[in-house]
Amino acid sequence: MSAFEGFRCTDCGATIDDEGATRCPECAGSLDARYDFEGIDLPPEAFAGRSGGWKHHELLPFVPDGMGEGATSLVDAPRLAEELGVGRVLIKNEAENPTGSVTDRGLALVAEAARRADADTLALATTGNGGQSTAAYAARAGLLSRSFVPSRATFINKAMINVHGGDMHVVEGRFDDARAAYEGKRESMPAAEEEEWFPAAPFESPFRHEAAKPIYYEIAEALGWTAPDAVVAPVGHGATIAGLWKGAREFETTGLVAGTPELYAAQPDGCAPVVEALETGSDPEPWEIPDTVVGPLEIPDPAGGLAATEAVRASGGTGVAVDDQDLLDSAATVAQHEGLEVSIACGTATAGAWDLAEGGHFGPEDTVVLLNTAAGNKDADIVRSRLMSQGI
Ligand SMILES: [Zn+2]
Repeated sequence: MSAFEGFRCTDCGATIDDEGATRCPECAGSLDARYDFEGIDLPPEAFAGRSGGWKHHELLPFVPDGMGEGATSLVDAPRLAEELGVGRVLIKNEAENPTGSVTDRGLALVAEAARRADADTLALATTGNGGQSTAAYAARAGLLSRSFVPSRATFINKAMINVHGGDMHVVEGRFDDARAAYEGKRESMPAAEEEEWFPAAPFESPFRHEAAKPIYYEIAEALGWTAPDAVVAPVGHGATIAGLWKGAREFETTGLVAGTPELYAAQPDGCAPVVEALETGSDPEPWEIPDTVVGPLEIPDPAGGLAATEAVRASGGTGVAVDDQDLLDSAATVAQHEGLEVSIACGTATAGAWDLAEGGHFGPEDTVVLLNTAAGNKDADIVRSRLMSQGI
């Protein structure tokens, strides 16, 4: 039985029962799933004998018909631990998801919600991985998909959107240009061609950040039902870190785990609106001239910027912005010292962890989790170019 009660608008507080809800019908604000924890008894044994990425179904609105997303490995990185001067470093490896990124968790839930809402099309503006994932999950659910991607999105993302049979609009420019094209198309669609679009982007429905909660559940269970001391996550839209924090609070509220980890938001210094907000103590402001090699994190005005900022603040963590060259070197370091192939977004988190360690944020016995959001081979060309520029 799920403890799910419905959705609440984070802006006006309205409550909505519709399982396929996207935004608040009163004020168009973001929705968040809410639960009644009083009525459920959840000891750790409740999860024994269950498997898969959706086994914590008491803490989800519903369980999707997925294709093996979630339940990813938590990989020990002993050399990084030594280099950082902490007890243990673990890498939560979201590269293991079906299309090679953490986005699959969200899209599995979005596709199921769209099916329940009788929508026929999943649509979004995306930096790339989200489009690949949307095309895959739309195909599985028998839905159409429309992805608006900036021209700088990786070849792999664009190719795989095509391979899955998704409709793709490549928009000259950056993510905000793709988002403007998406908005324009949605508003100008002739009534005769009207499609029932279900928004697949983060915070345009309550499902993307909700689907990130199991990342934390899985980490805590792998650590013997304890919280790690710190989680360093790359932040783009803000959905993943917001979901991690929600999951951590739920496990504490239900008594499954004592305490919560400090969350650290890592962004490239060429586009770091959340880090800037954390450093100045204000709300995130749109980043004026985004410029970073990390396409998935080049989100100048993230829909979940405030949610991410509030999550990090509430956890007792902070933000860290890192240089493009450092984050590329860090992705290569993980590949060379640990053997693990990680995204350059994870390189951002790793470079951030180095800065945080130097800044005294970690203790010598701490368990630090780094989030690898996507398969390293999606970014192979970028990291290899950096190595070649150094004559390697
Ligand atoms: Zn509202």
